[in-house]
Amino acid sequence: MHNIDKIKKEFLKKYRSQKLYSKTVFNFLDLVNQYIDVDNDYHVIEQLIEAENVVEFDVFWENDKGKIVKNKGYRVQHSKLLGPYKGGLRFHPTVNLDILRSLAFEQSLKNAITGLPLGGAKGGSDFDPKHKSDDELRRFCYKYMESLAPYLGHDYDVPAGDIGVSNKLIGYMYDAYRKLKGDEPGVFTGKPISEGGSILRPEATGYGLVYIAESALKHYKNTDFKRKKVLISGSGNVAIHAAYKVCELGGMVVAMSDSSGVIYNNQGLDVSYVDEIKTKDKRIHAYLDKYPQTFFSADSKHIWNFKADIALPSATQNEVQLVDAKKLVDHGIIGIFEGANMPLTKEASAYVIDQGVIFIPGKAANAGGVSVSYFEMVQNKLKQQWTKEDVDKKLKDVMTNIFNNIYKEAERINQKMRLDIASDLVGYKRLRDKILKG
Ligand code: NDP
Repeated sequence: MHNIDKIKKEFLKKYRSQKLYSKTVFNFLDLVNQYIDVDNDYHVIEQLIEAENVVEFDVFWENDKGKIVKNKGYRVQHSKLLGPYKGGLRFHPTVNLDILRSLAFEQSLKNAITGLPLGGAKGGSDFDPKHKSDDELRRFCYKYMESLAPYLGHDYDVPAGDIGVSNKLIGYMYDAYRKLKGDEPGVFTGKPISEGGSILRPEATGYGLVYIAESALKHYKNTDFKRKKVLISGSGNVAIHAAYKVCELGGMVVAMSDSSGVIYNNQGLDVSYVDEIKTKDKRIHAYLDKYPQTFFSADSKHIWNFKADIALPSATQNEVQLVDAKKLVDHGIIGIFEGANMPLTKEASAYVIDQGVIFIPGKAANAGGVSVSYFEMVQNKLKQQWTKEDVDKKLKDVMTNIFNNIYKEAERINQKMRLDIASDLVGYKRLRDKILKG
């Protein structure tokens, strides 16, 4: 008789030192345990929780002072069952193999949830792109690509951006790839439009997040974003575009943050000004230059202290802990939708769900980005450029479908508020079917 404990024990023998990866896999196993036939699916589960291939290398690059600097580079190719490996590259000092293995596993489930023909991967480097000159960024990207390019291909592994990797950097990496292996536009997504990128790719994750939240608000509470107060952590790609979409739908973004602090105005923030200062690489405090009456705290986590109707945590993993979740619930939050990957800890999400808050995990809620990446791959293959209206409609359709599928699954297991379990089950079943039916 096989059971989850046996799977965990075997897993720990190999990955005991990979704390986040183990935690992520165990969270998944604990959530779905009750709803799958572990004895029957033993080998399926064993296959799904482990990466198929891991690439790890050193990147030696030259900074503007002529000094050679060493960084680590990685690509975790987790699952190719449903299509080419697909997932972002993250450039941030905290990047290590443990984080990337965990994100690649989640990405495989996420891509399965979308219903699109995409496998799962994640990669990156501990390189910090902040305050680097364009020449330094180019040199780093070239060296990073020298090691990674042999493992990529438009029908094999197609990276995109993630934290610290804007479409400018994707452009630099694609330039390097072209020099090393020749023209192949479909090998990256999130490219600048002039190089075959899709319209709305930068906006896709944030917009998609708000679209799925809209579906959930309608189904569970028969309401929408109009006049709702919204907290959005971060002020990067996901957060900014989510903020624009919230405003477009009549909501009010009352707080945003970055790693140096949080700004708050009960009457709503000027999102385009937040965008302007962050595009200029300034700290969020610079918002007060134009709006000196705004509340500012140098503690980014202070954002969860404010009263609001909806929270869209869109900065980073583990940014909402149990203590923060309690404050949100005490202040009457009705929905929490994850823009970032795993921003709520396991304890925080369990608590908010228990308190009747609508909660959609990142692997469903932030799947808009990878979905438009898929549209980019299709446009490159067909040598087409779709309009903004086309892409936006398709994005909305994918997000609505994702919501309907996880909602139906939650109803099927008689756990209407457990969209977290339902998301894992929808992704798991699609991967399982592929293994069993080929
Ligand atoms: P960006 O690098 O564009 O932005 C990240 C933002 O979060 C920045 O404003 C950053 O501030 C802020 N931040 C980082 N750490 C903290 C912290 N501890 N407290 C408050 N703010 C913080 O990344 P993205 O917007 O692209 O990604 C955000 C999240 O969304 C990540 O988890 C990513 O994996 C996930 N995601 C992104 C997708 C995409 O399409 N971009 C797709 C799916 C998921 P600062 O400027 O100070 O660094």
